[in-house]
Amino acid sequence: RIAIAPSQLQQGQILLTKDQQHYLGRVLRLREGDRFIAMDGIGKWWLAQLEGEQAQVLEPLTVETELPVSITLIAALPKGNGFDEVVRCCTELGVACIAPVLSDRTLLHPSPQKLERWRRIAAEAAEQSERSFVPTILEPVAFSTELSFVNSQRYICVARGDFPHLRDCLQYKKQRDIVIAIGPEGGWTEKEVQDAIASGFQPVSLGRRILRAVTAPVVALSLITAACEV
Ligand code: SAM
Repeated sequence: RIAIAPSQLQQGQILLTKDQQHYLGRVLRLREGDRFIAMDGIGKWWLAQLEGEQAQVLEPLTVETELPVSITLIAALPKGNGFDEVVRCCTELGVACIAPVLSDRTLLHPSPQKLERWRRIAAEAAEQSERSFVPTILEPVAFSTELSFVNSQRYICVARGDFPHLRDCLQYKKQRDIVIAIGPEGGWTEKEVQDAIASGFQPVSLGRRILRAVTAPVVALSLITAACEV
C-alpha cells in the first residue's frame, strides 16, 4: 500500500516518485507486473500494477474504514514530543480533524516544522490503518478561538469534578459531529472550563483516574468509537 498525491495520477497511470519506487522495489520487493494498492488520502483507493518507473491503475477500490461520525479533537499541546503520539493514535482510532490549541497552562509553543511533522505522522498512520481519509491537522491557535464549533455535540474533558461520564453523554444518533476537548498537563483553568460551558460544551469525565494529557484523547476516542461503530 502506498499513499500518492492526486497530481501523481495521470491518464490511468501513477507517476511514482523515487522514494515510492524504492519502497515498492527494494522494501516490498515487488517486481514488474506485481500489484499493490494506492490511496490518495482524500477518500480514493486503487488497485495498481507496477510497470517500470510508474504503475498502471487497474481498478478503483471501495474501502469502508471510516467512522459513521465526524470527530474533531481539540487538544492542548503537551510538552516534548507528546503530541506525535496523540496524532498517531487518534488517527488510527478514526479522528477526522485535530485542532492543537494553546491553553492558559500550555508550556509548549510549537515551531512551524512541528505542524508539518504532525501532518506527516497523520498521513503515515492513516495509511497503516487503511483509512480512506487523512485527518486534517489545523494550525495551533488559542483555545478560545476553537470554542465556536456549531451544529455538533461538544464535550470538554475535565479531570476533577463531579461530571457525568462521556460514555453516558454521547448521542451520536442525533448528532453526527462530535467535538471533544482535552486539556494540558496542568489541566484547564476554571475560566477555560466556564468559557467552554458558556459556548455550549458539556463538561465530562473519563473515569476516576487522572489520565496523562497524551492518554486522555485516546480514551475519549475509544469511548466514542465503541459507542458509534457497529
Ligand atoms: N492536574 C490536572 C488536573 O487536575 O486537571 C490533570 C490534567 S490531565 C494530566 C490532562 C487533561 O486530560 C485534562 O485537562 C483533561 O482534559 C484530561 N483528563 C485526564 N484525566 C481525565 C479524567 N479522568 N476525566 C476527564 N478528563 C481527564
